[in-house]
Amino acid sequence: MARTRKIIKNSVHRALNAIGDRWSQLILEEAFRGVTRFEDFRARTGAPRNTLSTRLRGLVANGILEQRAHREGAARQAYHLTEMGLGLFDSVLIAWCWGIRWDEVSPNGPAGLAHTTCGRSMLPQMICTHCGGDISLHSCSHRPGPGAGFEEMQVTRLHRRRQPAGDDASARPVSDVIDMTGDRWTGMIISTQYFGIHRFDDIQAMLDIATNILTDRLRALVANGVFERRLYEMSPPRYEYWLTKKGKDLYPHALALLLWADRWLADASGPPVEVIHNACGKPVSAAVVCSECRVPLLLDTVTERRPKERAKA
Ligand SMILES: [Zn+2]
Ligand SMILES: [Zn+2]
Repeated sequence: MARTRKIIKNSVHRALNAIGDRWSQLILEEAFRGVTRFEDFRARTGAPRNTLSTRLRGLVANGILEQRAHREGAARQAYHLTEMGLGLFDSVLIAWCWGIRWDEVSPNGPAGLAHTTCGRSMLPQMICTHCGGDISLHSCSHRPGPGAGFEEMQVTRLHRRRQPAGDDASARPVSDVIDMTGDRWTGMIISTQYFGIHRFDDIQAMLDIATNILTDRLRALVANGVFERRLYEMSPPRYEYWLTKKGKDLYPHALALLLWADRWLADASGPPVEVIHNACGKPVSAAVVCSECRVPLLLDTVTERRPKERAKA
């Protein structure tokens, strides 16, 4: 099921729309760990069979995974990351880093990371490839790019709402790194902050998002310490939503998605938003490096320390 909405062109939205949701993010992580078979994805992510089929189909349709015969002449298919899919490694590294730094590690996520090249425990760090300086929300500025404007975006509805709003929805308002980085709506709501949008009605208008979904996600973002509320009108009380320090630390993740989408999902008119690194004044070109030796992190040079309870099992 899909509906079309008219929204401001935004590469982060395009990326999130291609990736989808929590399940797809979990599948991607496993793909980067070398998982290729349906049953292995199922065992590792815990996804129900139908859910897994839908998400794998979506990732294939969006060019992130491709199907290959699992061995010569075999009927069973294996799922491999395409070159486009491999390009998402930076965003996965940054998500893992955020989860570790803010103690939001998901049940499947690494509790620590090491770099085999230098042999040390490390955290992935995003730098500007022009000047080598660190990249953060405050070290970058944004201006409309050549492709700025509006576009129709077809948003596939992946699933119905988990449950009616109310008791159940507030029972689990706090989520983990996967919800903060892999949920389409959450990512889109966070990215409105980079454009100075802080009020409910403005966010709602910018994203053309259903009020109940926005309320639900904002509640989770506040409970999770990513947003803080600021009172701007006394009666009735009305609040603005602002990124906390923890929330601002998600910026490199959004930027990794933006750069990926500008490379793989751009239209002919070019990037909708141009990101400038203030230190050198150049359009950002980013690399994710090891915090200890500053060498760019490659897939086969990163090792994970799993959470303790999993290590025992
Ligand atoms: Zn720079
Ligand atoms: Zn290193």
